[in-house]
Amino acid sequence: MAGLGDSDGYEGTAVLEVDRSRFDVQVRLRGHFQPIDGCYHWYGRIDAHEGLDELLGSGKARGVLTTAEGSAPCELSEPDPSHRYRVTGISTPPFRAGESAPGPAREEAGAAGTAGAGAPEHDGPAAPLPGHVRVAIIGAGLGGIGAGIRLRKAGVTSFVILERAAAVGGTWRDNTYPGCACDVPSHLYSFSFAPNPRWSHSFSRQPEIWQYVEDVTDHYGLREHLVFGTEVLRADWDGGPARWRLRTNRGELTADVLITASGPLSEPSLPDVPGLADFPGEIFHSARWNHSYSLEGKRVAVVGTGASTSPANRWWAASPSGPRSSRRPSGWRCGTWPRPFPTPNCGPS
Ligand SMILES: Cc1cc2nc3c(=O)[nH]c(=O)nc-3n(C[C@H](O)[C@H](O)[C@H](O)COP(=O)(O)OP(=O)(O)OC[C@H]3O[C@@H](n4cnc5c(N)ncnc54)[C@H](O)[C@@H]3O)c2cc1C
Repeated sequence: MAGLGDSDGYEGTAVLEVDRSRFDVQVRLRGHFQPIDGCYHWYGRIDAHEGLDELLGSGKARGVLTTAEGSAPCELSEPDPSHRYRVTGISTPPFRAGESAPGPAREEAGAAGTAGAGAPEHDGPAAPLPGHVRVAIIGAGLGGIGAGIRLRKAGVTSFVILERAAAVGGTWRDNTYPGCACDVPSHLYSFSFAPNPRWSHSFSRQPEIWQYVEDVTDHYGLREHLVFGTEVLRADWDGGPARWRLRTNRGELTADVLITASGPLSEPSLPDVPGLADFPGEIFHSARWNHSYSLEGKRVAVVGTGASTSPANRWWAASPSGPRSSRRPSGWRCGTWPRPFPTPNCGPS
């Protein structure tokens, strides 16, 4: 451990490998075990680097980070306005960690994922990529899973669901901010053919919705079709053999039919606020909530007044420092909208 006192972490030089390119970079990393999902989460920043900018532009990437203390797969998010890349991983970190470092069982959960609060059990390592399939689906959110179920019901078995993360769920895997819940009633925000009599709330919370996506994936036998850790980078129609040619971070495949279910909101949108680059405090997007950062006693500014702002605001509004929002929140949700369903008293009296 270098330069970070008693907490797990590393600060110094490292080598980052992305797409067979190697970069000497400067990093600040931290990490800790999160009892809430049983994973070791590590994260930090890579200083601005022209070579990385050239390779990635404003895109995201996966790679391997090697420091003087270790090596680990990682995920890079878009650069911030200062061109620093945020790096994250859920695995043995690339630095010496305390007793809280993960055991081998959880490392199988994937090289780098976005698992957060209440992670279901079914994360998996990447399956082999087939050479050719009848149908390729991009994304394992509700859209991709729904398409897969319908294909199976129609008797189509030659298909894959290509998912860049390490688990199904999409929106409901990535958004783990406090209070995250649906704003369409749960009984409607479910597949019509797979109602869930066990919803606990009228507007259920994120862990329960994520678990629902996991459950329907199992129930309809989709596991064998899922290929995790596979990001589709390019899709070209080849008129000769009448096939889609798909390039992924793990190789190529072809498909007769392509279904894109990559999600309209799967990329966090970072605002271009003047001065943001120089802000010395912690900055994160609600879709990539930093659970390891305590807001206790902090003055918090919230940019945006959309649906995600309201539950997160309520969660920390009790803090003496209170939230500071850039605009008045849209007030269409009252404080009690996610009501628990009453438990019927059916037992013997
Ligand atoms: C916080 C929040 C709350 C919401 N609440 C509601 C609600 O109450 N009611 C409602 O109707 N809608 C709601 N939405 C909208 C929600 O996004 C949709 O309802 C739905 O979950 C979208 O599903 P999807 O499968 O289309 O996309 P997503 O859930 O975004 O899934 C897309 C998947 O594709 C993967 N992917 C993306 N690009 C690639 C690639 N190139 N290669 C491989 N994989 C890729 C992503 O990793 C992701 O897993 C909410 C959205 C958010 C963010």
